[in-house]
Amino acid sequence: GREAPAARRVLLKLSGEMFGGGQIGLDPGVVRRVAGEIADAVREGVQVAIVVGGGNFFRGAELSQSGMERARADYMGMLGTVMNALALQDFLEQAGVATRVQTAISMGQVAEAYIPLRAIRHMEKGRVVIFGAGAGMPYFSTDTVSLQRALETRCSEVLMGKNGVDAVYTADPRKDPSAERLESVTYTEALQRQLAVMDAAAFSLAMENRMPMRVFGLDEPGNVTRALLGETIGTLVTA
Ligand code: UDP
Repeated sequence: GREAPAARRVLLKLSGEMFGGGQIGLDPGVVRRVAGEIADAVREGVQVAIVVGGGNFFRGAELSQSGMERARADYMGMLGTVMNALALQDFLEQAGVATRVQTAISMGQVAEAYIPLRAIRHMEKGRVVIFGAGAGMPYFSTDTVSLQRALETRCSEVLMGKNGVDAVYTADPRKDPSAERLESVTYTEALQRQLAVMDAAAFSLAMENRMPMRVFGLDEPGNVTRALLGETIGTLVTA
């Protein structure tokens, strides 16, 4: 028989800042809104994997500044991402979407272990897979994990949702009024012009593996659905 056209499969990165609505802890209203937007795209047939940040609870680098050992502080950071993953799972399920949480640190009562082939299978069945606990390794960021998970689970694109900014600019638009908004940019250009797109480890994974990435704003309602459906919002970064 003839095969169905390959479905669009993408990886969405949601920062901890989004989960907290700019505060420490969880803002359920924001999570509910974003879950509803994800549900709209899933109903259109998009296969969705999500990496959640955890900066609304703890950032390892900040805790280590105040005297904690860095690796232990990073584990606290990773545990924070799991709380966000569970919150997102809850609101997605309430919106009628089947979900699975997979964590890089095993905690069998609340989540599956990270098993890439199983994650792919979940997405093929229309389930949203939420990746928690980062890479399970200190000194990494959830941006880096986003690239790694997208590569391993064969996503065609990484969608980097940002708060307070809606695209890549030539300078920080909040500080420099002459900052220019870019529709698209290559990794090489971004490197040459020292554009702040993501941390260096994430950047090098993206560039070396030629993974397309769209940077877009989470503040505007509807943007998550638009990004998931492949609309041209924010900035497209390509090899
Ligand atoms: N973290 C880590 N390894 C990882 C991912 C995250 O150690 O693979 C820790 C790190 O301390 C980080 C925190 O978890 O500061 C929260 O993640 P991140 O800062 O990337 O979240 P976001 O900035 O997206 O809110």
